[in-house]
Amino acid sequence: MTIPSRPSVEIVEVGPRDGYQGITPFIPTDLKISFIERLVSVGVRRIEIGSCVSEKALPQLRDTHEVLTACVRIPSVAPQVLVPNQRRGEQAVNAGARTLVFVLSVSESHNRANVQTTPEQSVDEYARLLKAVPSEIAMRLDLATAFDCPYEGRVQVAATIAMLERLVPLRPGAEICLCDTTGRADPKHVERLFSTCISRFPNVSRWALHAHDTYGRGLANVYAAYKQGVRTFDASFGGLGGCPFAPGATGNVATEDIVYMFERMGMATGIDLEALVAVARDGAALPGGLAGGRVRAAVTAKVQMQARSASSKA
Ligand code: ZN
Repeated sequence: MTIPSRPSVEIVEVGPRDGYQGITPFIPTDLKISFIERLVSVGVRRIEIGSCVSEKALPQLRDTHEVLTACVRIPSVAPQVLVPNQRRGEQAVNAGARTLVFVLSVSESHNRANVQTTPEQSVDEYARLLKAVPSEIAMRLDLATAFDCPYEGRVQVAATIAMLERLVPLRPGAEICLCDTTGRADPKHVERLFSTCISRFPNVSRWALHAHDTYGRGLANVYAAYKQGVRTFDASFGGLGGCPFAPGATGNVATEDIVYMFERMGMATGIDLEALVAVARDGAALPGGLAGGRVRAAVTAKVQMQARSASSKA
């Protein structure tokens, strides 16, 4: 008899990229690799291990190649790397990346600030990247400022759709991740954008949400996307990700918060929550890191209480 498996969601751990990039004190490469190994050991299978960008732009991620080389040796992990252009994409593939994340923004000012080109130039760059890398390399498209832009404010659904009209035909099989870069999206907006996108582009193989918890709406937005059929969610262990120079800014929705919510809802994440919380506690304590999320403290308190009552009975 086969036991029916629970419906599942896929968590993409982006702490080693989005979570670290705003941390100023350099996190030693060995420590980065050890966090990845620990995340894999608690059941995380998909990890964005870094970003191939210039050292000057993101000094924290200057060792992405070394981290990637180490990850290639870890069985059962699918390392993905964020790249802004064709050249960096080819470098990442040569170093062992099997999933590339190409990032561009819907809003022009954010794209210029992030990758120093117009969104149109980024669309052309994406086309060049697709031609340059072997077809067996999985491709994800991160559409930044799909909901809101730090410079231009709320982004209209029509603007995001217009951008996708140009991008999707270039490779309909690519996974598309809509990113709430500022954390200002709300569940209604998330619902509306995903429902419009999913019906407009039925050939897209997989949709994902990249949520930030800056305004405490991370989980609500994740659930809104889930209700529209999205099953892939970015998250950062310990909720890492705030920029130390932007007071009040917080990171991605915490991996442990998402795991707890979906497991309570009866969905399988493949991740051992208590073991993850132990890793997340250490991640949250990284010097210079700004942690977020709620579940870490609650689970830690519960585990400590159980340990106390077990030792008092012994
Ligand atoms: Zn982000």
